[in-house]
Amino acid sequence: MPKYIFVTGGVMSGLGKGIITSSVAKLLQLSGVSVACLKIDPYLNFDAGTMNPYTHGEVFVTDDGGETDMDIGNYERFLNVDMSKSNNITTGQIYKKVIDDERKGRFLGKSVQIIPHVTDEIKRRIRALAEGEKVEVLVVECGGTVGDIESLPFLEAFRQMRMEDGASRTLFLHVSLAPELSVVGEMKTKPTQHSVQEMRRIGIQPDVMVIRGSRPLPAEAKEKIALFTSVPAESVVSDPDVESIYLVPRLLEREGVLPPIRRQLGLKAKGSMRAWNAVADRFVRHESTVKVAMVGKYADLADSYVSVNQALAHAGAVNDTDVRISWIESEDIEKDESNLHQIDAFDGVVLPQGFGGRGVEGKIAAANRARVAQIPFLGLCYGFQLATVSFARHVLGLKGANSTEVDPKTPHPVIDLLPEQRKVSDLGGTMRLGGHDVYIERPSRAFEIYRSEKIRERHRHRYELNQTYLKKFEEKGMRFTAFSDSRRRAEIMELEGHPFYMGTQYHPEYVSRPERPEPIYVAFVGACAKRARDSKAPERRRQLSR
Ligand code: GLN
Repeated sequence: MPKYIFVTGGVMSGLGKGIITSSVAKLLQLSGVSVACLKIDPYLNFDAGTMNPYTHGEVFVTDDGGETDMDIGNYERFLNVDMSKSNNITTGQIYKKVIDDERKGRFLGKSVQIIPHVTDEIKRRIRALAEGEKVEVLVVECGGTVGDIESLPFLEAFRQMRMEDGASRTLFLHVSLAPELSVVGEMKTKPTQHSVQEMRRIGIQPDVMVIRGSRPLPAEAKEKIALFTSVPAESVVSDPDVESIYLVPRLLEREGVLPPIRRQLGLKAKGSMRAWNAVADRFVRHESTVKVAMVGKYADLADSYVSVNQALAHAGAVNDTDVRISWIESEDIEKDESNLHQIDAFDGVVLPQGFGGRGVEGKIAAANRARVAQIPFLGLCYGFQLATVSFARHVLGLKGANSTEVDPKTPHPVIDLLPEQRKVSDLGGTMRLGGHDVYIERPSRAFEIYRSEKIRERHRHRYELNQTYLKKFEEKGMRFTAFSDSRRRAEIMELEGHPFYMGTQYHPEYVSRPERPEPIYVAFVGACAKRARDSKAPERRRQLSR
């Protein structure tokens, strides 16, 4: 019989509930408990696929083609296991199922209500996941903040599960914040008291509290929280800011999050944290730094490109270097050509995923500049496509070459719609999505990097390389060295005679994990580190000769 840990959040969003959920699950996994995570998103969208990453955060793609909340990416990175689309539930999915059932006549004669019909469906989905994955513990994270109207049916379902399964099989972990105003200099507990009151109002008494803050929570503050919330002081866990998210499991373990969970749920403790901690330690500051320019639109929102940022961090960790990412707004490049030369100062350029025409000319110019100036370059999905457009224009001399996504009437559609996309009219869940086998040709840089003829990578696109131009590209040194779907889709681009100029139609970042960094990212950061060293070499030589 599976056990459930329900993670809720109080006070405000952005406390890092996803990292705490992942870390608690990781600690259980490391102590020999089989575990999975489930993210509940209380919005009405069916999935995250149609949401704007600049407002909601990145859309994470699972191997089975789910377009999910970015927390699913955290779960995969921490647990180092693949999740599926069923690890993410939204209100939209629940309501759709209930309404479909109603149309089929499953509730004949009844009026269909939030309680019990919607809550029953929520419980069914939660239990089906735990039982299907045959795990001992399912950690269920509820998005949003206690008090949101949207999350009420989910919290009510959790309350019912406590009634049905008892305290030895359900545990409530509430994440809150102890803010500190610099003038007062004290970590305040009142917001936490209020958010627990809000929980109790709907019938839930937290069992464990995790308190975020800029520094460790003093003992008196813990006692105070215990007094006001009826959570024993030893179950109030301090979670101050740390240098890397991968240090959070060890932090929470040291702060004592496991004993109260183990006691209540009757879980064993075997295994060791050593291997994980060794991996996590690589994420603390290094002596060397590489500077990477990421060129995009609204480019400064870290959450919109979490997986790319994380994959770069994983690759930095194994290369023993910090990767410092700077955002360059592609529209600034369009407005003023001189902004383009900013990128010459970087050790590498990443052109990430994207959609639509805005800012595209700036991105194409950046791809071209990285090629001409011999700066290591990695193009991801749209970045891969736009790098080929830039090569078509500047090297093949194909004037007006473009992707038909940007210019449907281009004389040279080097990037064009996937044939099966022509009949697609709905926008939700209809791209080429999820894991596909990619076959690498040899000899190639790609094969040197992956050391395998077959890899599995995740996708999310409607457009692809138009292979009628393949020969022209190859004649000028831009090679396509990996394919999928019986050679119908080009997957990797590499440029001869350049220190590192590669692009992938797939999204390598979705499968990169601290314990398993993605090879093309590792090679890219390695090339950036080499450029950083080489550029410092003359300076060092000068110093030595002095
Ligand atoms: N807009 C491009 C396409 O649909 C690239 C998508 C992406 O970068 N994920 O093919």
